[in-house]
Amino acid sequence: MTEVFAGSFTAQEGIPEEGIAAAVALMRSGRLHRYTPPEDGGPDPVSAFESAFARFTGARHAVALSSGGAAMRLALMACGAGPGVPVLANAFTLAPVPGAIAALGARPVFVETDPDLTIAFDDLAAKTAASGARLLLLSHMRGHLADMDRLMALARDLGLTVIEDCAHTMGADWRGVPSGRHGAIACYSTQSYKHINSGEGGIATTDDDDLAARLILLSGSYMLYARHTAAPPPAAFAGLQLDVPNVSSRMDALRAAILSAQLPLLPDRVRRWNALYGVVEAGLRACPQIETIPRPQGEGFVGSSIQFRLPGRDPASIERFLARCLARGVELKWFGCDAPQGFTSRVDHWRFADPPPLPRTEGALATLIDMRLSLTFSARDAAQIARIVADEAARDGAAPPVARAAD
Ligand SMILES: *Cc1c(COP(=O)(O)O)cnc(C)c1O
Repeated sequence: MTEVFAGSFTAQEGIPEEGIAAAVALMRSGRLHRYTPPEDGGPDPVSAFESAFARFTGARHAVALSSGGAAMRLALMACGAGPGVPVLANAFTLAPVPGAIAALGARPVFVETDPDLTIAFDDLAAKTAASGARLLLLSHMRGHLADMDRLMALARDLGLTVIEDCAHTMGADWRGVPSGRHGAIACYSTQSYKHINSGEGGIATTDDDDLAARLILLSGSYMLYARHTAAPPPAAFAGLQLDVPNVSSRMDALRAAILSAQLPLLPDRVRRWNALYGVVEAGLRACPQIETIPRPQGEGFVGSSIQFRLPGRDPASIERFLARCLARGVELKWFGCDAPQGFTSRVDHWRFADPPPLPRTEGALATLIDMRLSLTFSARDAAQIARIVADEAARDGAAPPVARAAD
């Protein structure tokens, strides 16, 4: 009998009771807007979350926002991106990354992807020279960190300001430095499929007083920016507050309250995710038809998803593999798929950004499979999932091109 996984790949853990209680109290009070002062006169829940998050990462300033995409858009604006301005970005990323650039009328300049799924340094240098770009929106896509020491040295040489997209690296680190602490601004997402869950939401961090003031004004602080606790002194706002537009992207108290209850759990979540990742990775590695993605020594990653390749497989055989895994309860995504599906799309699908041919990225993604790891999985679940995937990968060896034509 073939085993079938009975769990759910989209399952979420519940909100901690403490967060539920805080949210219920806020709803009873009706004080949901971040600038409604709390009855007890203490810091408002959004400022409290910002201060806690700043402490967690070691950043001086933090601004909670309506989404990770909004964080990237505001970060780009704070760094001077606007109509026609070239912005470098990984070609392997999620659609809201080029979307944040396109929303400003700026021009995404896509940089190729190495086989380890990180940005190609040689192409970064080439595309910087060719475009004259001064900004890099660096996406740690699916949690894969480039060598951040080398990357920042290269960025300095190239005169690039780096904005980090840490949607998949909240809680990760590079050689002990928390992800998001290398660039000028870091952008995190708190939507449900990331590492802490407020449905939708985001947060941006920076050490720079001027950038922090700009982010806060852009977020839509009206003239209430002095209420922020993880913010620079009022002097940083002087001279800016009449020039920076309000693009209304605030976080509300309810989301901040449920996030504050989850933040202390993050280190334990990282440990649990990495334990599941280890089990799945070991199971997949035992299958000769599967190639896992090597993780560099300095990378402290968060195994909230796992990627692997089926080298030599043609598209039809990958489609069959995915369908058979799904029939056995294992939901996988394929980055090489010609049509965008669900959350998964690829650089050549972003017609709004007019991408050039990116053959190295295409090669890196052609047989790349993605699996979300839910914290609701047990170690037994993880082992079973890996057995099913390995079993199905072994079942259908590389189909020769002639066989595909005859399909
Ligand atoms: C989810 C995600 C974002 C954007 O986050 P939202 O909160 O959904 O706007 C940005 N980059 C990557 C790589 C993501 O996965």
